[in-house]
Amino acid sequence: MRYISTRGHAPDLGFADVLLTGLARDGGLYVPAELPRFSPAEWRALAGLSYAEAALRVIRPFVGDAIAEADLAHLLHDAYRGFRHPAVAPLVQLGANDWVLELFHGPTIAFKDYALQVLGRLFDHVLAARGQRMAVLGATSGDTGSAAIEACRDRSAVDIFILFPHGRVSDVQRRQMTTVNAANVHAIAVEGTFDDCQDIVKACFGDLPFRDAVSLGAVNSINWARIMAQVVYYATSAVALGAPDRTIDFAVPTGNFGNVYAGYVARGMGLPIGRFVIGSNRNDILTRTFTSGTMAIGTVEPSLSPSMDIQVSSNLERYLFDLAGRDGQDLARRMLAFRETGTMQLPADQLATAKQLFAAARVDDQATLATIARTQAECGYLLDPHSAVGVAAAAALRGDRRVPMISLACAHPAKFVDAVRDAVGSPAPLPPHLSGLMTAEERMTVLPNSVAAVQAFMRDRLRP
Ligand SMILES: *Cc1c(COP(=O)(O)O)cnc(C)c1O
Repeated sequence: MRYISTRGHAPDLGFADVLLTGLARDGGLYVPAELPRFSPAEWRALAGLSYAEAALRVIRPFVGDAIAEADLAHLLHDAYRGFRHPAVAPLVQLGANDWVLELFHGPTIAFKDYALQVLGRLFDHVLAARGQRMAVLGATSGDTGSAAIEACRDRSAVDIFILFPHGRVSDVQRRQMTTVNAANVHAIAVEGTFDDCQDIVKACFGDLPFRDAVSLGAVNSINWARIMAQVVYYATSAVALGAPDRTIDFAVPTGNFGNVYAGYVARGMGLPIGRFVIGSNRNDILTRTFTSGTMAIGTVEPSLSPSMDIQVSSNLERYLFDLAGRDGQDLARRMLAFRETGTMQLPADQLATAKQLFAAARVDDQATLATIARTQAECGYLLDPHSAVGVAAAAALRGDRRVPMISLACAHPAKFVDAVRDAVGSPAPLPPHLSGLMTAEERMTVLPNSVAAVQAFMRDRLRP
């Protein structure tokens, strides 16, 4: 399998290099030169397999000969072994033909575990084969940091450094990062804001001598391997409800277009998905883009679904690449103009094509709380605020009711104590495997808001 950049200039790469590279050198994102296509019989054959077995079938063509099949099978089995539900990604029925896909049974109880548990193990495997090491550096405002730390702990070829704004993440989120006792894990509280943390990360990636000296790697959702791993639960859930002999719709709460893009890839592989409903919170750049065709950056405002408080949807570029007939030179020009002006207009024919597949709705905080309360009252089912945004968007934009609608539940409600309490009167209890979280010993380093301080700390702590 070969991968090409959405901006048409970077060299084509194989899977292992795409995994380690992250962002392409021309500023674009890597996508497969051609998607594998599954026959109806191949989709049907996923029914009844374990999640790890289904993952092997779906992921195998993307990995190609970069990893031996037996090694990949072992790696996937190991990645999903620790999930707290035997189905890994179970479906729950909420209405006559409405379903929730629970994606919070991994170690940090948010959907990012489903891809990052695979990514950490892929890093180790590929680095060990090459005799290399890597220093993963990331910034987090909450969920991504803990999922990345859980994915990289105990990985022998990887050291991980996660920056978060000192005093500005929730107690649960901080403790999920600081109570991990592993020699290669470094939770760093920066005396600054989340934007300061992100600026430090960008500066480190831009400092090429430093980047090369420590072999810097990234775990954000521009990494193709994360998308690939997320394709799996679209396939398993659709097949469980009758695909490929039946069309399925999906509703996805998203800010970065990462999760819903994985569904689009599943459809491109031949899975009969009818429509995608996108749920945005008040930071609604995606909803504005898909309704008006104008992609315009606003200012980020805090919401009850903080993991979608984003104004630049980096993964949308992968979809725009297809919309524009895979003309990388053209997309590169338009993305640079977007960077400068903060806006981009989709041509009318492209907007029309996009609207056939995607519908989008903005769900504000009040509607989010009302959806949590109503779902609890009507179905006895507690949603987290992110999942509620998707469920509310699905309800607002429901099409043919004979087509099953699967809403992605992206986090466990216990992760968002205040919002859930405001909605239903009391918070959800933490699942048993996190019951010791609030009393476990914390390990973290407080550093000044300084690139030099972070770089010095990393050089000092890297394992040889
Ligand atoms: C990261 C995250 C999202 C948004 O994912 P995208 O990459 O923007 O699609 C939604 N909900 C939760 C709970 C998350 O952690």
